[in-house]
Amino acid sequence: MTTDAFIGLGSNLKQPAAQLARAVSELAALPSTVLVAQSPFYASRPVGPQDQPDFVNGAVWLRTSLPPHQLLDQLQVIEQAHGRERIRHWGPRTLDLDLLVYGNQVLNDKRLTVPHRELANRDFALQPLLDLKADLALPDGTPIAKLRSQCPDNSLRKLPPADYP
Ligand code: ATP
Ligand code: CA
Ligand code: CA
Repeated sequence: MTTDAFIGLGSNLKQPAAQLARAVSELAALPSTVLVAQSPFYASRPVGPQDQPDFVNGAVWLRTSLPPHQLLDQLQVIEQAHGRERIRHWGPRTLDLDLLVYGNQVLNDKRLTVPHRELANRDFALQPLLDLKADLALPDGTPIAKLRSQCPDNSLRKLPPADYP
């Protein structure tokens, strides 16, 4: 059985757009997983501490038979391969991969909250999801488009493809 999973990508260090492009290839190469589509990339103001560079964000749509915790394991392996260090909460990072939506599953344990707990507050996650699937909804039926229309503004700017690596 396969599940449609949506991953949010973010980076604000060491050529962020190149970090994201490489991560998309790595996600596409995960076992038992295919890449359905990737979103455009966006620039956004950081969440939390403002004394750090703007982020580049995007999302991918995967179809996978990996269970959610195994998918999270794989996301963390990719983050580590990009030299990710946890310096401070919501601080700068080379790569952040968040599991935003995993089919219709609702999970809430020590490692994993799905849908992602901050999704409704983040235009830089909601907009790429809409680009991927305009009628995507949360397991409770709330359309992502509705969340996007109510979401605080994070100065989201679509990057022209010429700025991609
Ligand atoms: P935020 O969660 O607000 O986006 P962050 O991405 O900076 O913050 P991290 O330091 O990357 O947070 O992750 C902290 C922990 O969050 C991870 O170790 C992971 O176990 C947990 N986590 C819970 N739910 C999710 C999810 N849906 N996707 C990714 N990690 C999650
Ligand atoms: Ca995050
Ligand atoms: Ca994260």
